[in-house]
Amino acid sequence: MADISQPHPENPVYVIGGGPGGLSAAAALRAQGVRAVVLERSDSIGASWRQHYDRLRLHTTRRLSSLPGLTMPRSFGRWVARDNVIRYLERYADFHDLEIVTGVEISRIDRAPAGDGWLLHGSGGRELTGSAVVIATGYNHTPHLPDWPGLDTFPGKFLHAADYRNAAPYAGQDVLVVGVGNTGAEIAVDLVEGGAARVRLAVRTAPCILRRTTLGWSAQRSGVLFRRLPASLVDRLSRPLAKLATPDLSAQGMPRPSTGPRVRAKEGTLPVLDMGLVNAVRHGHVEPVAAVASFERGENSGSGDVVLADGSRLSPQTVIAATGYRTALEPLVGHLGVLNARGLPVSHGRRTPTATPGLYFTGYTTPVSGALRELALNAKKIAKAIVRERARAKSSATKTPADASTNDRAKAAAAQ
Ligand SMILES: Cc1cc2nc3c(=O)[nH]c(=O)nc-3n(C[C@H](O)[C@H](O)[C@H](O)COP(=O)(O)OP(=O)(O)OC[C@H]3O[C@@H](n4cnc5c(N)ncnc54)[C@H](O)[C@@H]3O)c2cc1C
Repeated sequence: MADISQPHPENPVYVIGGGPGGLSAAAALRAQGVRAVVLERSDSIGASWRQHYDRLRLHTTRRLSSLPGLTMPRSFGRWVARDNVIRYLERYADFHDLEIVTGVEISRIDRAPAGDGWLLHGSGGRELTGSAVVIATGYNHTPHLPDWPGLDTFPGKFLHAADYRNAAPYAGQDVLVVGVGNTGAEIAVDLVEGGAARVRLAVRTAPCILRRTTLGWSAQRSGVLFRRLPASLVDRLSRPLAKLATPDLSAQGMPRPSTGPRVRAKEGTLPVLDMGLVNAVRHGHVEPVAAVASFERGENSGSGDVVLADGSRLSPQTVIAATGYRTALEPLVGHLGVLNARGLPVSHGRRTPTATPGLYFTGYTTPVSGALRELALNAKKIAKAIVRERARAKSSATKTPADASTNDRAKAAAAQ
């Protein structure tokens, strides 16, 4: 059987996903002289950013969010607006002259039958063989909804945060936002500012709320500075400062969390960077309520009932579920044994899973130092690892005949 750890040098490296992760990996490979082809399922790059809500700005700084080889222009300001992120990604692809094929969705990856890398099954019956594959389909790939009883019969308006653009359709409405991650927190504030009549926020786990900056120092910088220290130690040391920086909202129904931001991040939940939530809760514009338990048709209220974990009932006109996303990697690579119980890759960045050399993953972690920063670092590491692997394969391919003839000579000498 052919050895798939020996990549076929003519096959390009395929990069699945034309977001910041895929584009930066392709640019880093190109800088190392490796042909990389980006495969993007939508009709343009940066698809995730095009779908985000209108008011979104990076909560990581411009300087710590640039991708390798091209910094974001100063004119974008410190906190870059969504449209400028998209503009930057377009410019980035042009600047690095990246090879990008849009409209191709990869549904499954298998070992190539000839043993020369990986076979990608794409939409339209395409089959592509790559010497290596970088998987960058995004941590926020598929909207996730909890398995709430009664949701299918709920007559009110219901949407996932992925479909929220701005507050205009909800002006004058009673809205319940479910989930207090960065997205839920920001949508709640956006609704208040956009004229919703009442905004309630269903909280299952008390959030870790951090100021985006303290005296000009960004929360991200602290994340970078302390990223190598044990999470529990950082949380213990930063607790007094966190108490000073963010007021206690227990009286308003949002108690302080029992675990700190670093421990939470390790579990996959990033801290909430305050974009107005604290003030909105303090002034009663956003009302925290208990977690959602179930939905009911609500015979007496036209909009249906939402039953909360504390037994109370609400009848909002609209429910917006800011309940996160799934990576949805299972159909793509689940059969290769490279995912853990949470559906996340067992190896990340420059490391490939032992049984699947040449298969790289980027963008499936939640670093407090900033996801874009991490993608940028990974891109360079992955490119170097692929170049190293190619050099190793090449040298063992050129060594083999010589070794064989040395062996032959040794055998012949032994036979005499
Ligand atoms: C609301 C929000 C705000 C964020 N703000 C910040 C921030 O301020 N700072 C920060 O550092 N990070 C932030 N992040 C996190 C992260 O940096 C971004 O999500 C970033 O876009 C991740 O890049 P990515 O390339 O890994 O994934 P994505 O940007 O999601 O790109 C994945 C791409 O892959 C494509 N794709 C998916 N599946 C397939 C397939 N099977 N075949 C072909 N193509 C496929 C998608 O269409 C998409 O274009 C934010 C995330 C969210 C959701």
